[in-house]
Amino acid sequence: TSPSGHILTVENLTVSFDGFKAVDNLSLSIAEKELRVIIGPNGAGKTTLLDMICGKTKPSSGSIRFRGIELTHLPEFKIVRKGVGRKFQTPSIYEDLTVAENLEISLPEAHGIWASIFFKRTQHVKEIIENVAQEIMLADQLRTKSGKLSHGQKQWLEIGMLLTQGPDLLLLDEPVAGMSPREREQTAELLKKIALGKSLVVIEHDMDFVKSIANKVTVLHQGKLLSEGSVDQVQNDPRVIEVYLGH
Ligand code: ADP
Repeated sequence: TSPSGHILTVENLTVSFDGFKAVDNLSLSIAEKELRVIIGPNGAGKTTLLDMICGKTKPSSGSIRFRGIELTHLPEFKIVRKGVGRKFQTPSIYEDLTVAENLEISLPEAHGIWASIFFKRTQHVKEIIENVAQEIMLADQLRTKSGKLSHGQKQWLEIGMLLTQGPDLLLLDEPVAGMSPREREQTAELLKKIALGKSLVVIEHDMDFVKSIANKVTVLHQGKLLSEGSVDQVQNDPRVIEVYLGH
């Protein structure tokens, strides 16, 4: 933790693509064990912000500190090792492998597939996999081929693959896209449970879902911070109403 109690501090962050500022002088902080939702119209810079936090896109200027460590100069794999996990919108699970195998290959090197090829799978690894499977509601599906899971279960598996890496900050891009109402409710519970021990930054469009999980929302517009506060506060902010409803 940084002295401020924030796990993540973004300051004056800017990135330009051919002169166009996708993120423009943005500053925000995420607390330990906070579940923050980022909303904003298409093109607001939400995905680009997460891309910069996880190191996929390098900022033009500004700073991103994770537990006081500057991330902007680090390659993606080192940012993962520091404890930042990113889930993209498109699932990247291995459909021919079982749920257990998918969780196992995403373990950090020391425990993962390479170790399991040369050594017997340890009790410790088994426990991690079983605990994560329990958390993502797939404990009964450990031997199921991932391709056979429902769309929602695949999304949970992917969150599980992040959890096995033991991150302290999870970045999720529209985690309930395409899910059934029941799966959305279950995902809300899952994210709230994860937030008991970790920080999350979640991009989301569905305001009902946002209401069910967030205590604080950040609204981006044209790369800038438009509003920040509780769901009620931002929904009643005239600047937000103008952007969403037009003039
Ligand atoms: P959001 O996730 O809020 O919909 P994005 O972060 O995806 O918005 O995009 C913000 C803006 O930056 C968009 O106008 C998009 O076209 C632009 N953009 C994002 N990535 C690139 C890139 N690699 N090259 C050029 N323009 C980009």
